[in-house]
Amino acid sequence: MSPIYRKILGIYLLVLVLGISLSTLIYTNGSAVFDSTGSLVEEDIPQLTAISRLRVAIMQQKPVLYEYYATTDRAVFLRKFELIQRDVETGLHPIQGVIADKELYEQISKKNDWINKLAEKLDITLNTSPIDWDLARELLVEVSDTENRITPDIDALVELNHQHVQHSGMLAQDKTQLMIRLVIVFSIVIFLIAIFIGYYINAYIAETAERRRLAMFAERNPNPVLRLNWDGGVNYSNPASQTLIEQLGLNQVAELLPKDFSVRLQALRASNRDTCNLEFSLHERVFECLIHTLTDLHSYHVYLEDVTENKQAQQKLLHQAYHDDLTGLPNRRRLSEIFQTVTAGDSQANMAIILLRVDRIKRVLESQGYGASDHLLRALAERLNELMQDSKNSHGLSYLFRLEGATFGMLLPELDSAHQLGLLAERLQASMRDPLQVNTQEFFFTLSIGASIYPLDGRDLENLIRNAEAAVNRVRATGGNAFQCYTQDMNARAQRWLDLENGLRRALQRNEMALYFQPQASISAAQIIGVEALLRWRREDQQFISPVEFIPLAEESGLIIPIGEWVLRTACLQAISWQKTGMGKLVMAVNISARQFQHPGFVGLVGQILKETGLEPQYLELEITESVVMHDVEQTIATLNALRELQVKLSIDDFGTGYSSLSYLKRFPIHKLKVDQSFVRNMTRDANDVAIIKSVIALGQSLNLQVIAEGVETLEQLALLKQFGCDEVQGYLYSRPVPPAEFEQWLHAVTEESFTGTKH
Ligand code: C2E
Ligand code: MG
Ligand code: MG
Repeated sequence: MSPIYRKILGIYLLVLVLGISLSTLIYTNGSAVFDSTGSLVEEDIPQLTAISRLRVAIMQQKPVLYEYYATTDRAVFLRKFELIQRDVETGLHPIQGVIADKELYEQISKKNDWINKLAEKLDITLNTSPIDWDLARELLVEVSDTENRITPDIDALVELNHQHVQHSGMLAQDKTQLMIRLVIVFSIVIFLIAIFIGYYINAYIAETAERRRLAMFAERNPNPVLRLNWDGGVNYSNPASQTLIEQLGLNQVAELLPKDFSVRLQALRASNRDTCNLEFSLHERVFECLIHTLTDLHSYHVYLEDVTENKQAQQKLLHQAYHDDLTGLPNRRRLSEIFQTVTAGDSQANMAIILLRVDRIKRVLESQGYGASDHLLRALAERLNELMQDSKNSHGLSYLFRLEGATFGMLLPELDSAHQLGLLAERLQASMRDPLQVNTQEFFFTLSIGASIYPLDGRDLENLIRNAEAAVNRVRATGGNAFQCYTQDMNARAQRWLDLENGLRRALQRNEMALYFQPQASISAAQIIGVEALLRWRREDQQFISPVEFIPLAEESGLIIPIGEWVLRTACLQAISWQKTGMGKLVMAVNISARQFQHPGFVGLVGQILKETGLEPQYLELEITESVVMHDVEQTIATLNALRELQVKLSIDDFGTGYSSLSYLKRFPIHKLKVDQSFVRNMTRDANDVAIIKSVIALGQSLNLQVIAEGVETLEQLALLKQFGCDEVQGYLYSRPVPPAEFEQWLHAVTEESFTGTKH
């Protein structure tokens, strides 16, 4: 029973008790009023009537006696007197029983008897001859006196009666007033109770409504809710259960529960727990089931929830956490997990971490825009994955990962021999023979592959990856497209890298940098028309460091900005100095790296240096590599235009190695293409290189650009280039890059000997 219901019942009982008490009180008081009014009607009023009749009857005796005295008519007298006496009797009779004052009654009675006696004496006197008239008169006087004495007694009787009536009236009035008060009090109490009852009934109604709403909880619940009896039979199922049954094409509610449900119930009952959670699959959906034991009610509540979507989302999140978004391959975190699982086991097997980096991919990305990189990496991942699947049987278990950018990783947990690694690397390289398709274009790639072996090259994953990376870097440093295992001297190389960076920071202040110069010759005019400034770094220990080694380092560390500025200024100063010393007006070609070119202050710097040094702009040529110009083409064109406005010359270095789009090339305000030396190197042997050189020359001609071939070492190469219509050449055939003084001597020598005569 709810508290509110209990309160209402209490109030009801209170009202009942009050009602009964009030009724009893009203009844007793009402009876008292009834009694007093009853005595008034039944006793007091008849008494008053009787007293009046008595008074009249007594007063009538005297006139009848006087009439008898006057007429002496005895017959009339006797008849009248007898009637009067009867009236007196009837008057006295009712008073006799009820008048409290007996004395008063007896006095009246005695006085009346006396009058009767006097009347008898008068009768005798009047009937005795001779009539004694004196005696008769005396008797009549006596009657008058007696009558006069009776009157106060009757008045006293009336007074008594009056007092009795008044008393009864007062009593009835008091009782009636009491009843009225009681009724008023009761009404007030009832009114107050009604307010309380109203309040509690309101609360009760609200509570009932809330209960009804709560009862709707199961009914409206979108998830199945069941109530089972102690044996596991279904007592109740909400509408959502029915809907689910229909959706799943089941027949009855019990089929919604897992097959081993009764066993679970028994286990739950055996345990001391109230609830139990379980998860099960039904018709390709996953359900979560909460069983709640209600021991007091000998039943169970079962709540089912379809968590299929949650599970899928969880699995997706899990997959995302362990896989690379772009390629769908497992990521570094997954690699780390697998590595830990493998190393935690008892296996004594060797393991290998292989890193694969795609060579020259940056150039493709820069030329095709970064949107293409996604396609490319996906295609690459697919290719590698296929290969891994195919090679599973021949090379044992292996896992493929994407680590970052264009770097993929492999984990071979059961490595038998280094030979096995070599074979896999070969297969990997072979898989790159077919081109990869990006944006309807096909690209050929090669892979730089490095491997480290567990536990030989490291016991933890970080070390192994770092060492494999060192191996990859070594492969890349030697031109890429090869496989290399990590060897202990790799650390020394890394140390050297750090060493170089530190040295490079101080190189300018310590005057360790110098410019060497290599001549550029015009084939048709048979004369030296320009010179390329090539940077040299001679360290404290007199060791020469190749720009191939330190320029990328300077790029990466940002040191290229001050170094590049120094190169540009020194080269311009050199050019002007040679002009002044009568060495002719040679075009000074200066190499500009990507970071320098993209630096916002670059154009301003060029203008400033030209102004500072006084070199006419047409004698300065900036060499920019193909990959630099293809990165952010619009910005490049803007920068190139700004440089053109300065009237400096612009050439594209290492042309042919990148992927310049012809349409862009047309828009670049450039003067010269520098055929990359790798084509020149093999041109006497490789028909492909010849074809490339020829097409570059043809392209130059069609775009009205000069074409210079670099790396020309032999006369044979020179002859062929001349034959193909190449405008200019540069290479060891003429001179290696040399310090300025040496270059001056060389130039003097060739001009004196007549350039053409000596070399051709
Ligand atoms: P690059 O601009 O293509 O320079 C040509 C490279 O080929 C130079 O190497 C040069 O010594 C070498 N070379 C010239 N003729 C021949 C030849 O007949 N046979 C062979 N085998 N090699 C020849 P170097 O001086 O080692 O410079 C390498 C690269 O370093 C340059 O390639 C250039 O990209 C970069 N570099 C050099 N100096 C600077 C510089 O001041 N600033 C920037 N940003 N890069 C520079
Ligand atoms: Mg160059
Ligand atoms: Mg070059």
